[in-house]
Amino acid sequence: MTEYNQPLGGNDMPRFAGPGTMMRLPAAQSAAGLDACFVGIPMDIGTSHRAGTRFGPRQIRAESVMIRPYNMWSRISPFDHIQIADVGDIATNPFDLKKSVALIEQTYTELLKHPVIPLGLGGDHTLTLPILRAMAKKHGPVGLVHVDAHADINEHMFGEEIAHGTPFRRAVEEGLLDCKRCIQIGLRATGYSDDDFDWPRKQGMRVVQAEECWHQSLTPLMAEVRSQMGQGPVYLTYDIDSLDPAYAPGTGTIEIGGLTTVQALEIIRGCAGLNLVGCDLVEVSPPYDTSGSTAVIAANLLYEMLCVLPQVLDRADSRA
Ligand code: MN
Ligand code: MN
Repeated sequence: MTEYNQPLGGNDMPRFAGPGTMMRLPAAQSAAGLDACFVGIPMDIGTSHRAGTRFGPRQIRAESVMIRPYNMWSRISPFDHIQIADVGDIATNPFDLKKSVALIEQTYTELLKHPVIPLGLGGDHTLTLPILRAMAKKHGPVGLVHVDAHADINEHMFGEEIAHGTPFRRAVEEGLLDCKRCIQIGLRATGYSDDDFDWPRKQGMRVVQAEECWHQSLTPLMAEVRSQMGQGPVYLTYDIDSLDPAYAPGTGTIEIGGLTTVQALEIIRGCAGLNLVGCDLVEVSPPYDTSGSTAVIAANLLYEMLCVLPQVLDRADSRA
């Protein structure tokens, strides 16, 4: 039986000590032999307002020390079923956004030569564009579950095509997305015009505004998402600012009236059964994370993503 990598336990090494990898998993130099990997993408030069997400991956890893292997709702430990390691950070260029974007695409293209599912630790939301470019080279246009306070479909920002508010406009234009299999959840607050959220709808994407989520479980919505997505490849991108700032203040562009952490769990757990090919968690900005809880939430949501990866669920099923 394969010996899978296990997180270093809190009773074997104090939680405040030991390696600085995600969940204190072994570090790996490449994705060879891995079913899934954590990859840090430290950058914030795509940010339009408050920066700081360059510190996101390190802080998410720091706060991941509290996570134990077993999901106590599903009673499954992803580490019993797949090989996972932390492949470290992408050496982004802090002076050049376009070069950083190229480096991310190049790194993901390398990773995806292996049958691995990457889980990205951001980093500002610009990073999802080069990831989708790499994904589309391997899988063709993918479905998208995009959880965010913002649509991120600006045509330009300060005349620039590449920024953290434009990735999904570019992704649609470049044919990286299967728009009928895309959904944006949690969009809200104020816009530059009354039809800001209609552009993705016109492309065939489904938009579920935060008001449609208020005061209710998102489990029924996710059943609809699973039938929308079918068995084709799906990428999950989770912007931490989808959450209400009461939960997650540590981000650059907060908006009131956001999702709860329970709804975040319902969304991610509701992805069980999707053919997930990659995930990311973006926009954690530690300098604004006064309580430290934003990074804790991010680490937990990344763990929850691991728990719904197709290989984990398939292998846990066949063993049961
Ligand atoms: Mn975003
Ligand atoms: Mn956002």
